[in-house]
Amino acid sequence: MIRLIHKTTDKPIRYVFDTHYHGDHADGNQMFAAIGATPIASEESRSQFDTKGLAGFEKSKQTNPAVYGRLNYQKPILYFPRKLVIDDGTQRVELLHFGHAHTPGDAVAWLPKQGLLFTGDACVNGAFNYLGDGNSASWIRVLTEMQKLPVQRVCPGHGEMGGADVIEKQKRYFVELREAVQRLVDKGRTLDQIRQQIEVPSFKEWTGVDVKTRAENIDFVYSELTGSGKPK
Ligand SMILES: [Zn+2]
Repeated sequence: MIRLIHKTTDKPIRYVFDTHYHGDHADGNQMFAAIGATPIASEESRSQFDTKGLAGFEKSKQTNPAVYGRLNYQKPILYFPRKLVIDDGTQRVELLHFGHAHTPGDAVAWLPKQGLLFTGDACVNGAFNYLGDGNSASWIRVLTEMQKLPVQRVCPGHGEMGGADVIEKQKRYFVELREAVQRLVDKGRTLDQIRQQIEVPSFKEWTGVDVKTRAENIDFVYSELTGSGKPK
């Protein structure tokens, strides 16, 4: 990634922004810090880096020494509460934390001049929408906030780039998943029955994958809606 950036500019890399603490997004911090960049994240994410982030990194060092062997954990050192603006007069980047979505500390990078939104995993395009650290009701509110920006292009955390419609598709999945689970709960269905009977046709249209195969997310939303405790 650093080599690719240097193909487009001879300026130094001053900052690296972690949209959230997950290792596939933040475990490379040290490579950037080593060339003088400051890792940045939302203040809300700090405790996740200190706990789950560090634990996941240490585990990866054990299980994947070929990639992690030479690395040490580098947490962000610059944190912002809701918004941080980097603006040199030519380019402007706004880092924005809207609330709990894919993780409690998710933040996005918004480039207003280009209409570009880098969403991290708060919006993915066709990939698995991991809910294990999430909150589906709050996630919908966060996506609604993103939609207030005049977005032209979405760079999702996973999946292909797209237009602003990717945000709507991500939102629709959670809205319809919650509605579908609630409908079956209201009919007195058990979690096992819900897993078998649930239908969210728009999810398959978007991702090519039947919503039933995302059982983890069905279980998670069921636990949210019924207060039955976080599923294992
Ligand atoms: Zn993630």
